[in-house]
Amino acid sequence: MPVYSHSQLNMYEQCPLKYKLRYRDRIKRDIEGIEGFLGSRVHDTLKKCYDNLRFTKINSLSALLAYYNKIWQENWHDSIFIMKQDLTPDDYRALGEKLIKTYYERYSPFDSDTTIGTEMGLNFALDDENKYRMTGYLDRLSWDKDDIYQIHDYKTSAHLPSQEDADNDRQLGLYHIGIQKKWPDIENIRLIWHYLAFDRELVSYRTPEAISKLIQNTKSLIDEIESVRDFPPCESPLCEWCEYPDLCPLRKHFIKVETMPVNEYLNEPGVALVNKYVALKDEAKKVDQETEKVKAAILDYARREEVEIIKGSDYKARVRFDEKLRFPGKNDEERQELDEVIKQAGKWAEVSQLDTTSLAHVVENSLWSKDLIEQAMKCGRIEVTDSIHISKLKDAEK
Ligand code: SF4
Repeated sequence: MPVYSHSQLNMYEQCPLKYKLRYRDRIKRDIEGIEGFLGSRVHDTLKKCYDNLRFTKINSLSALLAYYNKIWQENWHDSIFIMKQDLTPDDYRALGEKLIKTYYERYSPFDSDTTIGTEMGLNFALDDENKYRMTGYLDRLSWDKDDIYQIHDYKTSAHLPSQEDADNDRQLGLYHIGIQKKWPDIENIRLIWHYLAFDRELVSYRTPEAISKLIQNTKSLIDEIESVRDFPPCESPLCEWCEYPDLCPLRKHFIKVETMPVNEYLNEPGVALVNKYVALKDEAKKVDQETEKVKAAILDYARREEVEIIKGSDYKARVRFDEKLRFPGKNDEERQELDEVIKQAGKWAEVSQLDTTSLAHVVENSLWSKDLIEQAMKCGRIEVTDSIHISKLKDAEK
């Protein structure tokens, strides 16, 4: 079984296709979002701050900012991209300075705890058989004056999660497990996220029950990743930062046509077909609306004139007014009562039938035992269906 990290699991949950391209197919891309670049430089700077502190050296804020600006220049490369078009690299560099300053002013002279390690690598197994192996790097490990071990994580994002999010966070929960595997006698561990943009700490603890649940959930997720054969793309706002748009069926046509001059673009077969399809659908919608109006007029005419057949030039229309018996649908309130009446009368089998849509959902999501699903699948088959869904382009996609 391969070794997993929280980032890998996270990526699989966000987009199975991106996970496959990055971790299974090992396709390397050197493009990097500026948010990630900024985060790395801030982390490097705080690492230096605490590494020097272990030698009793307290860097001044200006020395740390000078270091930050130096490594910003040294690591800058042409493949860094900025999604927010109204911002420049210098805006982001200045933001990093502000984050470091905020952190420095809150924690200097950094004597509230003792640093054990920075960028500490962890390799551990979730089980005794060494089957589910995990790896990760925690930003900083320390112990405080009350002998509580503290796992620190620096966050440079502009999003502040809730306490509930922190209490359910997998990454630091896994580091908690890693630290306890490394030093089994450690009992008290505090998880701390430093949200630099908000000058806020989020703090959380894990009970033994929460740790057991986390281990179980993580093992189940790894089992799923190991067994699935399909890695479908999953569209989300994170697609804007994806390094594989040219390999993604949801994005690659955009990449193909975005640099084409207008005349070539309009003649590109995909573009031309979609434009034609949309025009025809518009036309069909108008025809449907008109048809409904004429249908209503025919029914009206038939009622008024008391006729059942109306003669046209080449066709005739037969009009029928039927009564239909209706019972409450599956989601209607009175439905449960109706079901009960029929079941209690012992007539259920006479009027009910298998809901094959629900059955497909159960099988696709493995909600029954493997044996039962296999038996059901002896009567099931995979059919390829197709559909086209038309939606308006977002501003960013134009
Ligand atoms: S563009 Fe979006 S859907 Fe496609 S692979 Fe990347 S993250 Fe997944």
